[in-house]
Amino acid sequence: MCGIIGYLGKRSPKDILIEGLKKLEYRGYDSAGIALKNENKIQIIKSVGKIKYLEEKIEKEKLIDSHIGIAHTRWATHGEPNLENAHPHKIGRITLVHNGIIENATILKEKLEKEGIKFHSSTDTEVIAALIDHYYNNSIEEAITKSIKELKGSYALAIISEEEDSLYAIRCESPLILGIGEKEYYVTSDIGAIINQTRKYVLLGENEIVKITKDGYKITKDGKKVERKVEESTLKEEESGLLGYEHYMMKEIMEEPILVENIIKKYKDNLDKLPDISKYKSIHIVGCGSAYYAAEVGKYLFEDDGIKVEVEVASEYRYRNIIYEDNTLVILISQSGETADTIAAMRKANENKIDTLAIVNVETSTIARECTYKLLIEAGREVAVATTKAYILQVLFLSLLSYKVHQDDKYMKDLLSLPQQLKVLLDKSGFYKKLADAIYKNEDVYFIGRRIDYAISEEGSLKLKEVSYIHSDSYQAGELKHGTISLINDGTIVFAIVTDEVTKDKTISNLEEVISRGAIPIYVGTDDCNYKNKIIIPKVHKKLQPILVVPTLQMIAYYVAYKRGLEIDKPRNLAKSVTVE
Ligand code: GLU
Repeated sequence: MCGIIGYLGKRSPKDILIEGLKKLEYRGYDSAGIALKNENKIQIIKSVGKIKYLEEKIEKEKLIDSHIGIAHTRWATHGEPNLENAHPHKIGRITLVHNGIIENATILKEKLEKEGIKFHSSTDTEVIAALIDHYYNNSIEEAITKSIKELKGSYALAIISEEEDSLYAIRCESPLILGIGEKEYYVTSDIGAIINQTRKYVLLGENEIVKITKDGYKITKDGKKVERKVEESTLKEEESGLLGYEHYMMKEIMEEPILVENIIKKYKDNLDKLPDISKYKSIHIVGCGSAYYAAEVGKYLFEDDGIKVEVEVASEYRYRNIIYEDNTLVILISQSGETADTIAAMRKANENKIDTLAIVNVETSTIARECTYKLLIEAGREVAVATTKAYILQVLFLSLLSYKVHQDDKYMKDLLSLPQQLKVLLDKSGFYKKLADAIYKNEDVYFIGRRIDYAISEEGSLKLKEVSYIHSDSYQAGELKHGTISLINDGTIVFAIVTDEVTKDKTISNLEEVISRGAIPIYVGTDDCNYKNKIIIPKVHKKLQPILVVPTLQMIAYYVAYKRGLEIDKPRNLAKSVTVE
C-alpha cells in the first residue's frame, strides 16, 4: 500500500515531493526515496523507515538542479524493508516507483536474468523497470505498453528516464491520479498529497499511460489517445478524502493492514495497557450490527480461555432482566461510541455497579467517557456506512485481551506477520472481482460455519446484505438441516467458512449436503480443496484467524455491490452512527 508522488514543472521538486510523502505516510513507512532528474543524470536518495529520515539524508546531499522528480514511501510486500529494496528502482535507462504486487515477478525475473539483466533488490518492482528498459527502443510509451502485457498483478507506476524530460505514469488496480497546476503536473496515489498545490485532477483509467512534459500531458491506451475530464476536488485540506479510491468502503478496507500494524506496535510490548479480563468471573459483550458480530468472535476467544461469556445485542440487553453475578465485566463495542442502544446497555451495567469496558473509535464519545475502562481502536474516521476497518480493529482488541490471559509464542509470531499477510490478501482485487461476478445476480446467499467460523459467517453475511441488498443469512452449519435447507435450490450460493480445526470436517460435510441439493459452494478456508470457487486463507493462530478471513468477505461484498451499481458508501435506509433506539 505504498504512496507515490511525482512532479514535473517550473519548481525544484524536492519540497513538493517531501511534503507529499509526509501526507502519504499513512500508506506505509518501511522506507522512502526520491529520484530527481536533470539533463542526463538521475540522482536517487533513499532511506529506511519514516520520511523524516529521508528528509535528514537529503539535507546532507548536494542536489542536482532539477524540475522532474518521483518519490515513494514503501509498505513492503516483496523483500525486506531495507535500503536496497527501497524505491525508486533503476535498471538501465528506467527509474520508477511502484505501488502494488507483481504476481509473476519470479518467472519474469528468471527470464530476464537469462538475458543478462542484473537485479539489485528482492522486490517485484525491479522486474518492471527491467522489462520497460528491455523493450525501450525509441518510445517509452511503447515499452510500457509491451511490458504491461507480461505483468500479472497490480501496479501504479511513476516512471522517468535519463534520456527524456518527461514523466510517465500508469495504473492497474492500484490508485494513481494526475494533478494539474499552472504549467506544473503531479502524479499521486492520493489527492490529499497535493491538495495544497492544486485541486484540479484527472482520474486515470486502467492501463492508460500518461506522458507529461513541460508543454502538457497526453493520455494514451494501446497507442490511442484517450480524453479524460479535468475534475476539481472539494477535499478540505485537513480531510483525508477518497485518496484516489472510488469509494470510502474500499479505501477503508485498504487501510486495515496499516491500522492493524499500528495497534500491534503499540500494544505488543505494553500488555499492561490492556485490562486484565481474567480477574472477572463472567463477561458480557454487547454491541449492535457488526459490533455485535465482533462480540460473537470475542465469545469464542474468551470461552477458550476458560472465562464464562455472554453475548447479546444491545437493543435486547437493555430490556432484559439481567442477573449480574459478582465480578462481572460488561464490554461495550461501538465504532462511534454513540450507539443509542449500546449507551443504554452501558448505563444499565453502570447503575448495577458493574465494571464496564468501552471498545470504541471516538475518544470524546459518550461510551468512552462513561465506561470504567476504555480502549480506543484508533481506526481514524470511518466514512462508509458499512463498517470494515473498525470491525477488524474491534476483533483485534478482543484477540489481544484474550492473548493477555494466555500468552504463547505462536500467537506473537503470527500477530507480527498479520499486517503483511492481510496486505497480500487484499492486493488480489482482480480475484475478488471475479468471484463477485459469480454472485451478483443471485437473490439468496447463505453463509455457514461452526464456532468461530459461525461468528465470521455472520459478519460476512451482514456485509453482503448491507451493501448489495442481496438477501443473505448466516447459519451454524449444523443447523441448516433443521429447516433452512428447504430453501437450498439449484444455483443457491453457499459460503462455507472452514478455519476451525475442531469442526472443519463437520462443516465440509454440511457443505456437501447443500451441494447435493444444487447449491454452488464458495469455500473460504485454510486448507486447499477441490472446490472451484475458493478463497484460501493463510493459517494463523486461531485467535487471529478472523482478522484474515473477514477482509476477504468485505472485498466480495464491495465488488458485488459495485457490479450491481449501488451507492456503496451510503446503502439505502442505513446511517453510520445509530443514535436512535
Ligand atoms: N511490491 C512492491 C514492494 O514490495 C510495492 C509494495 C506495495 O505497493 O505495497 O516494494
